[in-house]
Amino acid sequence: MKFGTKLLHSEKTIEKNTGAVTLPIYQSSTFHQFDIDNFGEYDYARSGNPTRNALEEEFARLESGKYAYAFSSGIAAISSVISTFSAGDHLIVAEDVYGGTYRAVTKLFNRFNIEFTFVDTSKIENIEKEIKENTKAIYLETPSNPLLKITDLKEAVNLGKKHNLLTIVDNTFMSPYLQRPLELGVDIVVHSATKFIGGHSDVIAGFAVTNDKLLSAEIYRVQNGFGAILSPQDCYLVSRGLKTLKIRMDQSQKNALELSKWLLEQEIVEAVYYPGIESHKDYEVHKNQSFGPGAVLSFKFKNIEQTKHFLNNVENVVVAVSLGAVETIVSYPVKMSHAAIPREEREKLGITDTLIRVSLGIEDIEDIIEGFKKGLLN
Ligand SMILES: *Cc1c(COP(=O)(O)O)cnc(C)c1O
Repeated sequence: MKFGTKLLHSEKTIEKNTGAVTLPIYQSSTFHQFDIDNFGEYDYARSGNPTRNALEEEFARLESGKYAYAFSSGIAAISSVISTFSAGDHLIVAEDVYGGTYRAVTKLFNRFNIEFTFVDTSKIENIEKEIKENTKAIYLETPSNPLLKITDLKEAVNLGKKHNLLTIVDNTFMSPYLQRPLELGVDIVVHSATKFIGGHSDVIAGFAVTNDKLLSAEIYRVQNGFGAILSPQDCYLVSRGLKTLKIRMDQSQKNALELSKWLLEQEIVEAVYYPGIESHKDYEVHKNQSFGPGAVLSFKFKNIEQTKHFLNNVENVVVAVSLGAVETIVSYPVKMSHAAIPREEREKLGITDTLIRVSLGIEDIEDIIEGFKKGLLN
């Protein structure tokens, strides 16, 4: 079955008792036990809820995993996965990870004596150099945020296997439609389902997915033990959003390709970062490990006056935090997603105050370009 169909049809799509074709919302925190010696499948909804379990099963299938867990946010999924490590463990993390991930590991997990080293993972030898005796995992984002750097997933997996390290990939930018890291041997995939998966700017949610039974048991222990579960209502919204993932992504990606071409032609634009452009340094690597360049790109203006003018005057888009929605979202990383990273660190990474990130929506591209023109100084 191809992916677009898989989003809509499975054995579980139709609810057995009633024939309902949408995910039933079981708004129940507890479940009656018919036999005190043999509890039913459900007892208390933090531990398990039929709505959440159905969504988790569905999502595992889409990400080519055996086990998925739905969390109350992307960062809850990420923190829960990191919580499976112990004091004394060391993780190697992509240097331009999502700002909230950076904040979680440098401001919170560091208190519990979990060590992190940040490296540019687009060069695999940078990772190898940092491996220490207590290194337990490599944490990656590819394409990365906001500069769309690419990490070679197969090389990372091979390196991980050689040194007995887990590989963890934040697959938010791609969604399982465009990239399935578990198929390449990655151990754990995490997601902010707030973005392309939900797709409609109406829900905060996250997932962790794996094929490994032992890892799945550890993730479940944290999900149940720390309790950052996704509510039944929000599970429903994610399930509803997922059905149109393919057609939304197709349209958004087409828009991203067109916008990147237009941006490249503009005199005032200094650089465009998008793995769909052949001149992208790792165009081939990304092409070989994914099914498309996705719908997020970033670019730099030549000066700050133009940057500010653009952000205040661009039309037909939303200027906001977030990405992966039906609306085109323009964001300003230094004040939004990456505000948690100190200025000098940011600048070293190339996240300057002239950098703008765009997540393309499903509008007509002509109107997006018209709106962008409104933001240009003459
Ligand atoms: C948004 C985002 C997150 C965090 O997800 P929330 O749902 O906002 O908690 C993590 N990783 C990436 C790449 C993101 O874009």
